This record gives sequence, C-alpha cells and structure tokens, in this order.
Amino acid sequence: MKVPSGFQFAGLQAGIKPNRKDLALVYSQAPCSAAGCFTRNTARAAPVLDAEARLPATGMHAVVVNSGNANALTGPEGLQDVKAVCEAVARALGVPAASVLSASTGVIGHRLPAAKIVAAAPLLAQSLRPEPERAAEAILTTDTRIKMAARAVRIGGKDVTISAICKGSGMIAPSLATMIAVVTTDAAVGPSALAGALRRSMERSFNALTVDNDMSTNDVVFALANGLAGNEPMVDPGPELDRFAAALTEVCKELAKDIAADGEGATKLLEVEVAGAPSDEIAMELAKSVAGSSLVKAAIFGADPNWGRVLASIGARAGTAGYDVAPADARVSVQGVEVYDRAPAGHDGAVLKARMREPEVRVEVDLRHGEGSAVAWGCDLSYDYVKINADYTSLIVPRPDGGVAKDDRLANYSPAFKQQLLVEALGYIRRFAGTRCVVKYGGAAMVKESLKKSFCDDIGLLRSVGLRPIVVHGGGPEITRTLEKLGGKAEFVDGQRVTNTSDLKVVEMVLTGSINTDLVTLLNQEGGHAVGVSGKDGALLRARKLLPENGGRDLGQVGEVTRVNKDFLDLLLQQGYVPVISPIGIGEDGQSYNINADQVAAEVAIAVGAQKLIYLSDVPGILKAGELVEELNGAGLAAQLEDGTVQGGMRVKVRSILKALHNGVQRVHLIDGRVPHSIIGELFTDKGVGTLVTP
Ligand code: ADP
Ligand code: MG
Repeated sequence: MKVPSGFQFAGLQAGIKPNRKDLALVYSQAPCSAAGCFTRNTARAAPVLDAEARLPATGMHAVVVNSGNANALTGPEGLQDVKAVCEAVARALGVPAASVLSASTGVIGHRLPAAKIVAAAPLLAQSLRPEPERAAEAILTTDTRIKMAARAVRIGGKDVTISAICKGSGMIAPSLATMIAVVTTDAAVGPSALAGALRRSMERSFNALTVDNDMSTNDVVFALANGLAGNEPMVDPGPELDRFAAALTEVCKELAKDIAADGEGATKLLEVEVAGAPSDEIAMELAKSVAGSSLVKAAIFGADPNWGRVLASIGARAGTAGYDVAPADARVSVQGVEVYDRAPAGHDGAVLKARMREPEVRVEVDLRHGEGSAVAWGCDLSYDYVKINADYTSLIVPRPDGGVAKDDRLANYSPAFKQQLLVEALGYIRRFAGTRCVVKYGGAAMVKESLKKSFCDDIGLLRSVGLRPIVVHGGGPEITRTLEKLGGKAEFVDGQRVTNTSDLKVVEMVLTGSINTDLVTLLNQEGGHAVGVSGKDGALLRARKLLPENGGRDLGQVGEVTRVNKDFLDLLLQQGYVPVISPIGIGEDGQSYNINADQVAAEVAIAVGAQKLIYLSDVPGILKAGELVEELNGAGLAAQLEDGTVQGGMRVKVRSILKALHNGVQRVHLIDGRVPHSIIGELFTDKGVGTLVTP
C-alpha cells in the first residue's frame, strides 16, 4: 500500500494484551495539521476527552494507539494516564508533549497500565518504519484482519496520497461507528479545512455503518496532514478541497466496508441502499435501521430471503420519526432479484437463497417518495457474535502488575456456551471413532516442556475418544544445539538438514535416544500405551539416499522413504498402542539415513490409510503476506509452492502434504504447536485454528 511521504509507523507488544501486539505509533517528523472526529457517546473515554479538547490544531507529530484497554470510565486517573503516555512518547520521539495525540480501545472500566506503555515508548520510537502493517495489527481487538486503505489524488498539480489504518469489529453503531482510524496525508491543508473535509467524509462512510447498534466510548478518527506533497495549501471552500474530501471519503468508505465485513462473528457484508426517500438524511437513517435490524441480520446469516423484515424495519423507523414514507408502495430487491413491487413479486426462492450465500448481500429499497438516497453497511448476526460477547468481561482478570489478562477456563463461560461446545465436540468424537491419524510434532514447536506436556495430554485424549494416533517427531533445535556443542554446525538446504556421516551419529542419538524417549516417557505417565520406535526397528522405514536435485548440493546421509512396514504399525494400532516414530531410516545397503520428519509423517499416513495428517509447527499455519490461510485445496497449495509464498522448512511440508493428498489422505491440518491444545481446537470445533488442506 502506498503511504504518504514523511510518515512512519510502528507496532509492538507492550504487555497490555497477553499474547498480541497492542501498541501502535503513527509519526511524521514534519509537523502536521491535525483534526479528529469523535464518538457522540456521552460516556467518553479519557483519550477522547483529551484529544477532542486539543483539535483541530497545527504542529502535531504523532498518534499513539493502544488496544487491550479502553481507558474509559476509569475515574480521574484516566486523564493522568493519557498525559503520561503522550509525554513518554513525545520524549522518545524528541517532540513537544503537546504534539502527541492518543487513542485507546479494549475493555472498559479497567485502569490503563500506563507504566507499560511508558516503558515501551523508546522501543516503539526506535522501531518506526515506512510500512504501516505492524501498526495496523497492533490496534486490532476482536478484528480478525488488519484494515488499511489508500488513494492518490492530484491537488494543485501535485500528487497527494491519503492512507489510513483502522480497527473496528464489535460495538459498531451509527455516529461514528465504533472504531479507531488514523488517516495520514501529505497534502498541505490547514487544520480547520482538514476538519471540515474529515467531517464531510464521515457522513457516507463510517457514519453509514452499523454492526450491532452499540455505540462505543472510544470512537475516534484522526487525520494528520504534513504538507510534504508541496501543493499550495487548500482553500476552504474550494474545488481542490472538494476533490481532496472526495478521495478521503473513498478511503473511509473502503475501510467502513472492511469493518462491516469483519464485524464480530460476521460471515457476510450487508449493503443496504435506500432510494426515493424524502431526503438523503432520511434515506440514511432508514438504510441504517435495515442494516442494524437484528431480524434482518439473522435472516441474512441464514441466507433466508425474508424481505418482509426489511420493510417492517423501515416502516417502524419512519412511523416513530414521523417520516412521510409508505413502505407498501416500495420496490425491494435482494441480490438484484426483485422480491416486492407494491405487492410480493414472484421469484425463484432457491436461486435467491443460493445467491444470498455469497459473501456480500445487497438489499435495495426504492421508496418512490422523493429524491433522497443513501447506502449503509452492516453484517449478518451469527451464533459467534453471542459467543464472542457473552463472556467478554467474565474472562478478564486483573493482573498484579496492573494490566488485565484473560482467564478463559471453561468454568468461566456461560452454561449455554459450554453446552454448545460439548455438543459440537461430541459430534466430531462420534465421527472420528476408529479413524487413524498421523501427527507430526515439529522440532521447532517442541522446545518448551509445558508444551510437550500439553501435547502428550492431547494425544492421550485423542486416543481415549477412539482416534488412533501415530506420532512422528522431528528434532529441529535440539539437534542443532547438540551439533554446535560438539563443534559442528547446522546447515539446511530447502528445509532439509545436511547430514554427514559423523553428524548422523549425533542426529540419531538426539532423535532416538533423547527426544523419542522423552516423549514416550511423558505419554506413558498415564496409561502406558506409547511405544517408541526408530524407523530402523522392524525395518519400519526403508530408505535410500536422497540424490541431489540437478546441480544441487549433496545432502550426505539424508534419505527418503522407499517403503513403510505397514504390518508392524497395524499390529501396534490393533493392540491399542500409540507408535511414536523417530525419523531414521534403514537402507537396503544397511546404512542409516536421516529423513525429514515431514516426509516420514506423510509416507506413514499413506501407508496406514490415515484419514488425517496433522503438522504441528512453530507458525499458526500457512501464512501468505503475514496472514493465515485458513483453508485451501491441493491445487491452491501447489500454487503457493510455485509462487514462492512458502519457503524454508515449510517447502518440505508442502511437498509431503501434496503427496499425501494424492494418495488418499482426506484432510491435512497445519497448526500452531506453540499454542497449548491446538490439536483439540482444530479437530473438535467447527471452525479450526490453523490451515486445513483438502484434496
Ligand atoms: P518444523 O520443526 O515444524 O519442521 P521448520 O522450521 O522446518 O519447522 O518449518 C516451519 C517454518 O517454515 C516456519 O517457522 C517458517 O519460518 C517457515 N515458513 C516459510 N514459509 C512459510 C509460510 N508461507 N507459512 C508458514 N511458515 C513458513
Ligand atoms: Mg522441518
């Protein structure tokens, strides 16, 4: 994304939220005109009160935003904390304290752990970069993705850029819509003209948005203009300012739609256009009443063409406000299909239902009562919205150091949630009974003792609900550490470890002698069903030397699997044992080979006819441009290998997965082994946690 000249961004984890980035900074060395639009909620948060009193203004340099804590309804300390944060950031940047603005988002009613932000300020300032992604990530709360937009516009013969980052997902309601946005531009424009343009751009963007009709305490949209584009400062009013405001509106509109589509629990974006209203303002109000109606939203979730609810909510709002509008005379269409025209219109219900399953649903209403029109955005209302919001503060516990943490033991959730979860899980348990599943435990993910323990608990659970797990483990960091201790060094080609004959002894010692034994011991603390086997035992893994790819480097004693002794594994599985395999193979020549564990896992899965193959690694799944790819098929995965999205150790995994899919394995899951119990989350819930690959 193109960002305006002279702006820099940073995002990091200051410890306000347990495991995610939570502090963002937007900075311009050149002083800026600044303006803001704020929530109309009278329960305003402290940073809103502070910024509102100081804007519009000139000479501004930075906006610091934290997530994880709203600093709202926090008493008199709230404003002191804002001051402390702005001062610390100003000090770190070497600018006046009055030139820094702040915003907060997160839980209401807990004191802001300002000391953590103050402590993080120097690092935040040092990590400024021209790319806005990390800042965009750090301002998120329940959002599932980052939100950024940009436009270029010619002003006074100069190229001006406008860009923005924003967050918003729940508590999103008209005027503004709950959210934080920071708009940056290199245009030269005075603060009051900027404020006017910003206000204008809100009307048809953020003010046209509703997710849940709940207005937040912390809404704020900041605009910073540093003038580095070199245009003559825009005159207010004037055609240049109009053009600027139009481009600004486009940026904000794009973000508003992103927010709606990423509403809490949302599965679809809802766009409602109302035309033929007595005025634009009335059209907007009616469009928002439709987009915000719980009944309309629930119908959109179910792809149910229940247009009666659309006219009912328009009639209700018009009647309450006394607008001269007769819904009976209207025309209504959904996804371009006419469903009502002064009377119910005949249409193919099945076709319309299918079209309503698309990720964007558009409802159009022509009231035939004037020239006013408007578009509003919202989203559907799903079970997940309630899940996300039913327990939000019950799970928040204060920490001794002043912050808050999430205590999400199941005991703290509502009975309804627990029941739902169990019903969902039990459905899977029934389906999985008796199926075989191979789990590759990544070397990189198995470094922490507590993680190993929770992994072993999970394998025990899988076994006790009737799944037949086989574990294949890697060696990763432990092999590297041992080699280095012995004076050698680790080298990788395309994710495969180069292994010379003397290294092989070390590799075998660590894999079979140490890691395998450890896992088996942990697994057998209860039950005693795990059996540790090296690929050499019972000639489980027959191997041959992996030949270098044309012109490639010789990898030494690295092998590939030629045959898996399926009978041996069948025997163990039939007796209820959990085989734990270390990836050392034996050649027809009697030599030992180090085999990449990803490949072994795939070959074993193919050999035993496993329905599932699971890779636990040290990443959330397959990442593309930093974002998790939740689901893809074999062709999609092959494309990622081709286009270079997948690198290093992930390449071996992907090639192994493709082979497994070609040979009968139905589902492959890539999940984060660093997250305790991620296997359980992936297998026993409808929406998994990592990447799911199907044929
Ligand atoms: P393991 O011990 O799980 O085999 P590896 O280091 O061999 O660990 O492989 C996982 C690594 O692959 C990740 O840590 C990551 O750095 C790298 N990787 C490369 N490209 C991607 C991608 N597109 N998505 C996820 N991880 C990737
Ligand atoms: Mg690897």
